[in-house]
Amino acid sequence: MSSIGSHNIIELLNCLRCGRCRTVCPTLESEGWESMGPRGRIMLGLNYLEKTKWIEGTEKSIYTCTTCQACSNICPSDVEVESIVESMRRAYLKDCVDNRRINEMYEAISVFGNPMSDKRSRRAWLEGIDGISLKKRSDIVYFVGCLPSYRSVDVAASTLRILSDYGISLLDDEKCCGSPLFRMGMNPPTFDSNIRQIEESGAEIILTSCAGCYKTLKNDYELECKVIHTAEFFHEHLDEIDPGKLDLTVTYHDPCHLGRGGGVIDEPRAVIERICGLSEMKRNRELSGCCGGGGGVRSGYHELSTSIAERRLDDLPPDVDLIVTACPLCLINLADVGGKVIDLSELIERSKM
Ligand code: SF4
Ligand code: SF4
Repeated sequence: MSSIGSHNIIELLNCLRCGRCRTVCPTLESEGWESMGPRGRIMLGLNYLEKTKWIEGTEKSIYTCTTCQACSNICPSDVEVESIVESMRRAYLKDCVDNRRINEMYEAISVFGNPMSDKRSRRAWLEGIDGISLKKRSDIVYFVGCLPSYRSVDVAASTLRILSDYGISLLDDEKCCGSPLFRMGMNPPTFDSNIRQIEESGAEIILTSCAGCYKTLKNDYELECKVIHTAEFFHEHLDEIDPGKLDLTVTYHDPCHLGRGGGVIDEPRAVIERICGLSEMKRNRELSGCCGGGGGVRSGYHELSTSIAERRLDDLPPDVDLIVTACPLCLINLADVGGKVIDLSELIERSKM
């Protein structure tokens, strides 16, 4: 039976062409063309399976998907669109293209250990930050991620300060988890090194504050130890962390890979409600809108990514002081279009000042 990756043709034929997914797809909403939505992407996959060739326009169609899972979440036929799109990307890369953007990202991750080609030490962010104590070895390893290490360092600093009582350690030579490459259809060069270090660390828990790292470490790495997001950890240890109160009303943006993807929906809300008021965005929880940054869309189709982020801000309830989220990519993408966004760890830290 013909297949794309682990998805056989029957799975694609399960698409009823009902168009229900068209109502939630952020890229279709921005671009308007059928090929820029879930149903169109499935049709392109079917065409490939039936005729064994890719038709013109496939590259843009599949590489503009943010892998947000909004479509699969409401599909009456359980078509796993974003997973099929990832497999299509893999097959497409193998079959036809020398994709410069993806090759450059692979090269940057190989040489610098991060997709931004940032030449600084991955631990440079620790310099000059007070109140952080690290253990050489621990049952809990904090996998910092590229964005908190280089771009949103306050997220990493707040997280480590909150967790310092728990005796956290870091990997000696952490490198990009490979999320952007996995999502774009390529295995990252850093996979073996990260796996080896995690195994050698003997850790029971790998903790991450990035929704992309969370999905990747949990689903693509097949680790023996538990992978948990900081939102889950903060929730589980909320009485011990003992946050204070803030006279604020915030809203919460569910990162796609954490909420729809990982089912971590109630935990961050419970943490927020211990600290301050929570007012929901128009689309929330499993039906949350995407920030537009995932699936390689921010790096490859910046204008599209921006338009999706702008539309996400239209979901804001009136009179909220801040948007709280639990993913550095969502944070950066929404802040770039004017959102006042902080991470859950920063909210906790503010409440304890
Ligand atoms: S992917 Fe699912 S929701 Fe979308 S058209 Fe096909 S059956 Fe309908
Ligand atoms: S995963 Fe998101 S962006 Fe991709 S087709 Fe589905 S709804 Fe559209």
